[in-house]
Amino acid sequence: MFRNSRFYKGLWSRWTALRFGEVEYDSDSASGIILQSELVLVQGLKECSSCGLFQAVPDLRPGQVAECKRCGSMLERVRRTSPIMAPLAFCLASIALYLALLVSPLMTIDVYGRENTVTIRSGPHELVDQGFGLIAILVNLATILMPAVVLGFMLFILYGASSHKAPSLVRDVLAWYEKLRPWSMIEVYVIGLIVAYTKLVDLAVVKLLPGSFILFALMITMAAMDSTFNSELFWHKFPPSDREPPRLYEKDFRTEDYIVSELPRNQLLSCMYCQSVFLADHPVPNGADMGNCPVCDQTLRRRKQRSAMAAASYLLAASVFYIPANLLPIMTYVKMGQGQPSTILSGVKQLWHANLYVLALIVLFASITFPVLKIVALSTMLCCEALRKDWNLRFLSRLYGFVCFIGRWSMIDVFMISILAAIVRFSFFAHVSADSGVVFFASVVVLTIFAADVYDPRGMWDAAGYNCTLTQSEKNSPDKVLVMRGKQVESERT
Ligand SMILES: [Zn+2]
Ligand SMILES: [Zn+2]
Repeated sequence: MFRNSRFYKGLWSRWTALRFGEVEYDSDSASGIILQSELVLVQGLKECSSCGLFQAVPDLRPGQVAECKRCGSMLERVRRTSPIMAPLAFCLASIALYLALLVSPLMTIDVYGRENTVTIRSGPHELVDQGFGLIAILVNLATILMPAVVLGFMLFILYGASSHKAPSLVRDVLAWYEKLRPWSMIEVYVIGLIVAYTKLVDLAVVKLLPGSFILFALMITMAAMDSTFNSELFWHKFPPSDREPPRLYEKDFRTEDYIVSELPRNQLLSCMYCQSVFLADHPVPNGADMGNCPVCDQTLRRRKQRSAMAAASYLLAASVFYIPANLLPIMTYVKMGQGQPSTILSGVKQLWHANLYVLALIVLFASITFPVLKIVALSTMLCCEALRKDWNLRFLSRLYGFVCFIGRWSMIDVFMISILAAIVRFSFFAHVSADSGVVFFASVVVLTIFAADVYDPRGMWDAAGYNCTLTQSEKNSPDKVLVMRGKQVESERT
């Protein structure tokens, strides 16, 4: 019955037409359709994840970085450290520190002889008691659950990489590790703790306890773990065992034997996970689902699906929430029965008047400037893509990288409130409570992180007409470009 329906016939005819190349592809309408295609692996070629230019990258020596010759984004880096042992050492150190952190007190406060001590778990508990369950869940996720998940996943991945036969689950764990890593926010929590501490030192006797130093050490070891871990390398370590390895382009030929600029652009695509580049036997629509990647078994698509529409929706919601986030108070500090609700801006002013200029500027940038910058920058990119204009795309691609980097740092205020609410609990003498503004503010932060995550900056370059054909200067430029610390050290025409 279903076979005879008009819907099914329409879908079938469209699918076969797409499959056998009878129609001109429309990148948007093809999204969601699975295309069958024979893919051949093109070795030595990389697609820039910021601008979509395919270019040959020579074999790098340890310490070298290859940059995109069109937009300057990083294409590949080879680290000097051991690929498994270095991240493993930092991962084990982080796990030990994390376990110690769970049971260690962060700081203690003394108000008129009454003491209160907090751990990393106290903030979410107090927020639940004050009726801010959603914020408690967010703080719990970012500071307790996600660090544990990320460290556990990393240990599993490194175990898989060092064993002879890696469990097949390790590929999915690696994919989830990459998705969840930004949500572990230990380093942002450290700044939140410092801001909370400096706000309290003038008002009461505050002492930092061992937990604070463990937290600081955990921040360092997790950053070192990230900087020594090369996920791309690991994708190639875990090929799906139940599949034939992909056929190589022109059998055993490598990039030395073909001219990159002569490969058909509309048939090239790269995997977003393992970065392998494939040549399909027909043009590939941008949104189409190309089945699973032959190298890493993850879903293969040319571009992120419906990226502009999804990013625009998140941005619209974030812009709406941004107004109450700044107008409504985010917390109230009451001392000896007196106190007023404070907004984000008045919190910055208080720090400034207390001569804590550096912290005032950090909170100003993280809580006020960064959310606006994220909304304005991503909106400009979306307009640029919709109008098919080239508004300094090189700059916009760099800006996109910066927007992704700063996304999480706006959580400083949310963490600070959770710490203050947990530690200043002396009923009439002194009391800190969260206010409704914090819910809107946290929503803005989360929505802008989502917007940056779903957006695909290559869409801007596609819309401006860069990726269907090469410009004359790109055709004439050398095929292989190696840039080290911003300086071109090797270029050759293959
Ligand atoms: Zn680029
Ligand atoms: Zn792949």
